[in-house]
Amino acid sequence: MPTPRQSDLTRRLLALFEDVAGTDLAGVAHETSFLELGLDSLTLTQAAIQIKKTFKVPVTFRQLMESHRSVAELAAYLDTQLPPDAAAPAPAAPTAIAPAPQALPTLAPLAPMDGGDALLQAVIAQQMQLMQQQLALLGGAPMAAPATPPQAAPAPAQAATEPAAEPQRYDVKKAFGAIARIHTQPQALTERQQARLTAFVRRYTDRTAASKAYTRQHRPHMADPRVVNGFRPVLKEITYQIVIGRSKGCRMWDLDGNEYIDVLSGFGMNLFGWQPDFVQEAVRQQLELGYEIGPQHPLAGEVAALVCELTGHDRAGLCNTGSEAVMAAIRIARTVTGRNTVVSFTGSYHGTFDEVLVRAGREAHGIPAAPGIMRGMFGDIRVLDYGTPEALAYIREHGDDIAAVLVEPVQSRRPDWQPREFLHALREATQASGSCLIFDEVITGFRSHLRGARAVFGVDADLCTYGKVVGGGFPVGVIAGKRAYMDALDGGQWQYGDDSIPTVGVTYFAGTFVRHPLALAAAKAALLHFKAQGEAMQTQLNATTAAMVAQMNAHCRIVGAPIEIRHFASLWRVTWLEDHPLQDLLFAMMRSRGIHLLDNFPCFLTTAHTPADVAAIVAAFQASVGELQEAGLLPGGTPDALDANNPPVHDARLGRDPAGNPAWYVPDPARAGKYIKYTP
Ligand code: PMP
Repeated sequence: MPTPRQSDLTRRLLALFEDVAGTDLAGVAHETSFLELGLDSLTLTQAAIQIKKTFKVPVTFRQLMESHRSVAELAAYLDTQLPPDAAAPAPAAPTAIAPAPQALPTLAPLAPMDGGDALLQAVIAQQMQLMQQQLALLGGAPMAAPATPPQAAPAPAQAATEPAAEPQRYDVKKAFGAIARIHTQPQALTERQQARLTAFVRRYTDRTAASKAYTRQHRPHMADPRVVNGFRPVLKEITYQIVIGRSKGCRMWDLDGNEYIDVLSGFGMNLFGWQPDFVQEAVRQQLELGYEIGPQHPLAGEVAALVCELTGHDRAGLCNTGSEAVMAAIRIARTVTGRNTVVSFTGSYHGTFDEVLVRAGREAHGIPAAPGIMRGMFGDIRVLDYGTPEALAYIREHGDDIAAVLVEPVQSRRPDWQPREFLHALREATQASGSCLIFDEVITGFRSHLRGARAVFGVDADLCTYGKVVGGGFPVGVIAGKRAYMDALDGGQWQYGDDSIPTVGVTYFAGTFVRHPLALAAAKAALLHFKAQGEAMQTQLNATTAAMVAQMNAHCRIVGAPIEIRHFASLWRVTWLEDHPLQDLLFAMMRSRGIHLLDNFPCFLTTAHTPADVAAIVAAFQASVGELQEAGLLPGGTPDALDANNPPVHDARLGRDPAGNPAWYVPDPARAGKYIKYTP
């Protein structure tokens, strides 16, 4: 039986773990081990620090894994370590308003193993997996989530123009990618799987030997998280990035001379293909003229004017990256409103600085999404579920305290979730409370529409942040928006020749490399190109993407592959409807067929992709899905495996679709005697 002091310690420890993990542990048996609770190594490391702080008893992460593995064991241990009067009665547990439970990016509980070493090894494996996720997040990558049980097929994607029917619950695990990106555990494969994998690895490494040699050569001195992405012991030999030495249009060539069609498109910063002539020429000319930093540059005003003209914003400021633009937007919002609280949403990505590397903790309070970020950072950050009535209710209720609501209108991790109604309601609520509505349009800006998501959804924002494509291939970030906010950068309007003075209080916004002339030249060229092309360019590209995605999805349905491509505008990404351990081989298999992409990253079409390029992308995708299925690494079968004696519905007949693939056809109810393709 626990002593009264142990019971008190247990209660305090539970509250501590709930705070650190950002999850509710009510009702959990106190003897349940931390691993069984699914608490990840980041959480346990942070818990160890908090325990030491609170109880003044040093407890290590390793102890939480090995010797004091549950709240009950830990309480008993602390009881032995604390002097008789040290565990003073604790304040009553806070009666918190229960927030909507947030799915934590926890790791799958570890299976018990024999011996401490094995357990420690497993823990280290988890630690590495977690670190990789965090590094991926830091790099703007889709943060990999832990292995999850197979998910039911999600609702079909909503068209951008349709109102959201139902608020969708945000699931962190889904939105941050479908599987863990680093596994250090060995994997058991069937004989067939092993044979196919061995053959593929040989094919891949033979083809890209120079990239592999480069990686081996530079690992000792170059620290690069991307290189280890997707590590698994069985895939170790192909864990390296393709090294690209040259590109033009949508084509790239690697060190071995292989040609690729690029669909990573520079994480979305490339909209016109690599080295479009109009950008090349502008940059070349500027290179000759010079690239001075310090004085004002003639191109700066021109670029700001073009941004305002094309987007309809009052004023614009220039910086180097999307992250810088978001950082400035938040600072401006706080300056102008005189409030502190910033609301953001789970699943959004806003860049690399601490305040946005956040995940939802208890009662929507932000907690660090990566090691090295102070918990204290997030006192004024609230992280809510995107697109939900609860989020709206929170914003309406606390509006008077909210400086800004920071929104990625369509999250790159979840492009099919396009909550139009929610965005309109958000506009109303922030307008009413005088909070700054910030649209982070670093991806959607200029790409989805000339005026970005604001135009797609018919919702105006107070401030918008841009980056990626606006730089024409060079590092440029833009913050633009309403005069009332933007004036906080320079004090607003004043004239020469009279007694006017800057009247608006200013905040800090600077950087050595902001308005770099080469970047300005590229941005101006890109903006002039946008202007000349008009909205038709985006409309056409979006339609091409939708058609390509429809074709790929139809194929997946026919062959029973648990994959769905989700898209918004010209962004598309593979979504796994189930988890299969080596499914990520799909991406390597596509690379081996000449399509350049990174595992589980969003992909982007550009205006440089021709119909033939699109057809090649689809063909490589279909062939790679087929290869995975044939190897027994993904369920379902290749089209040729469709069994004529086993139709999916009684009147289905086998035929071939326009691409020549076998497919099921059923009688068309509208046209007697005609058949249409069967879609399950
Ligand atoms: N916001 C969004 C929506 C983004 O996608 C990104 C980058 N992926 C950023 C901000 C940060 O931009 P950058 O990487 O240029 O700092």
